[in-house]
Amino acid sequence: MTVATTRETLGFQTEVKQLLQLMIHSLYSNREIFLRELISNASDACDKLRFEALRNGALFEDDAELKIRVSYDKAARTLTVADNGIGMSRDEVISNLGTIAKSGTREFFSQLSGDQQKDASLIGQFGVGFYSSFIVADKVTVLTRRAGELASQGVRWESDGGGEFTLEMMDKPTRGTEIILHLREDQEDLADGWKLRSIIRKYSDHIVQPILMHKQEWDKEKNEQVLTNEEETVNQASALWARPKSEVTDEQYQEFYKHVGHDFEPPLAWVHARVEGRQEYTQLLYLPARAPFDLWDRGGARHGIKLYVRRVFIMDDAEQLMPAYLRFVRGVVDSNDLPLNVSREILQESRDIEAIRAGCTKKVLALLEDLAENQKEKYAGFWKEFGRVLKEGVGEDHANKEKIAGLLRLASTHADTSDETVSLADYIARMKEGQDKIYYVTAESFNAAKNSPHLEIFRKKGIEVLLLSDRVDEWVIGNLSEFSGKPLQSVAKGGLDLGALEDQAEKEEQQKESDEFKALTDKIQASLGERVKEVRITHRLTESPACLVADEHDVGGNLARILKAAGQKAPESKPILEINPRHPVVLRLRGEDKRFDDWAAVLFDQALLAEGGALDDPAGFVRRINQLMLEMGGAA
Ligand code: ADP
Repeated sequence: MTVATTRETLGFQTEVKQLLQLMIHSLYSNREIFLRELISNASDACDKLRFEALRNGALFEDDAELKIRVSYDKAARTLTVADNGIGMSRDEVISNLGTIAKSGTREFFSQLSGDQQKDASLIGQFGVGFYSSFIVADKVTVLTRRAGELASQGVRWESDGGGEFTLEMMDKPTRGTEIILHLREDQEDLADGWKLRSIIRKYSDHIVQPILMHKQEWDKEKNEQVLTNEEETVNQASALWARPKSEVTDEQYQEFYKHVGHDFEPPLAWVHARVEGRQEYTQLLYLPARAPFDLWDRGGARHGIKLYVRRVFIMDDAEQLMPAYLRFVRGVVDSNDLPLNVSREILQESRDIEAIRAGCTKKVLALLEDLAENQKEKYAGFWKEFGRVLKEGVGEDHANKEKIAGLLRLASTHADTSDETVSLADYIARMKEGQDKIYYVTAESFNAAKNSPHLEIFRKKGIEVLLLSDRVDEWVIGNLSEFSGKPLQSVAKGGLDLGALEDQAEKEEQQKESDEFKALTDKIQASLGERVKEVRITHRLTESPACLVADEHDVGGNLARILKAAGQKAPESKPILEINPRHPVVLRLRGEDKRFDDWAAVLFDQALLAEGGALDDPAGFVRRINQLMLEMGGAA
């Protein structure tokens, strides 16, 4: 039976076309990386085959030695990267080499500026992969067959990097993938043994499988280097993480990161350790310098830890090896004890995995502590990229809560800018004499926090307040009642008790005012009725006439609004209206009779507005304000 060889022409997904154009132009000055990408893919394909073969040995097809071959043909101006890994079926070729399945693709393209340098670094974060071939090739041919399939199930894919690719079935006796680059005219220098060896040693030395090339020999007659039939391994071909630290250079660590992290830029920092004891494993964990596009996509985001068991690749994205709040960590864990047939399901229940996760978490937190302590700038960079993710840990990881809290960086009234640079330890070191609490305010935006009327007395007395305006901050604070023995206290909750920060005279004065204004507060309360829990005199205000506070154990205004926006039911709780007995508006109100209800309503509404709340009846508020303005105009 003969297989009908029909050639089909298919179109790339629009995003692929865009990416190809961009790749060729922005990465031109970095052209050598295409080889790293192709070898990295070949290595992954070998890892996948070895893993699938654990269950189905037949996939090896009598050829269990996984290898990557790099060859070239000067005359034909071609360069070939071949592997005997898992290969691809026709459908896989279409979806892997015709589309971009990554999440965040659309956002990625919307961020491009047309500025080559900036775009190049963006592409790097996005991951360049197979398409980088087109930086140096004007035509790429892929021959592939999935392991375990018949020879007739080979697929030939070809494209010139324009809008289309062709596809046809072919006979391919050996499994795996062969990628043939037809080099552009000005790239023919790449078809050279020395050049290729030096690129491979520079970028792909850490690849576990041997990368083979034909040996060259001096041909006296031709007076030039010729290729022999003998092959040699050009990389170290041993697991980098299994080597002693002293034998791995920084460059090698960095190149290995680019492979495991699918990143274009070097990592921020890493930690490499062998753990012995009840569980034996090696960990090589990296902090990326930049957040990937899918960091916030909890479902789709890759969890970048690769699990190996005794050097055999088991799986990518082993999310059980890292808690969710450290999902940006990339790297490898190689266990000596787990069974080779370990599955995701087993991982979920395994106590050994729990121990490994705890160990990895500890290592990453220690690395972060070290950066925070000794490389402040690097840590600031880390915080900018991943701070919001790390914050989740305060609520997620009880055992390490204090440690994570120590790593937090927040904005505060100390610098009064939105830069998150203040640690809780910094705050404590700056606490006033007699201050026993860490004060904070939460609001929907930095400006709302910074200008919150609740801060007035604190600013006057020079007491620092943390300004929290991230959505997750409410959750962080809800899970953090104290740090280093100092309780955290919202400035918008409960009665204000500044303890030893106030002297006796101030306290007596406040009590006196409270009594004096009792009639007024009662009257406002009667006027506002159901809208408030209580009306009382406060001394937290120095500029504003009124503010709202929540009772100590009630849900605060900001959190209630976040819950509501998220469609969740917040427990019903009414605010307390506090008024400033020294403010002219409040003093004026004591003598008011006719329009008392309007004044009271405006007082309440403006307090709600000042903390970022939405009015129940905005039109009513406007009407009252206009009315009051007119009356004042008339009085003048
Ligand atoms: P990435 O490697 O980041 O997923 P690529 O564009 O480089 O992106 O590759 C897309 C997909 O094509 C890979 O995820 C893999 O499934 C498949 N692929 C690429 N190269 C090979 C290969 N040599 N063997 C088998 N599959 C491959």
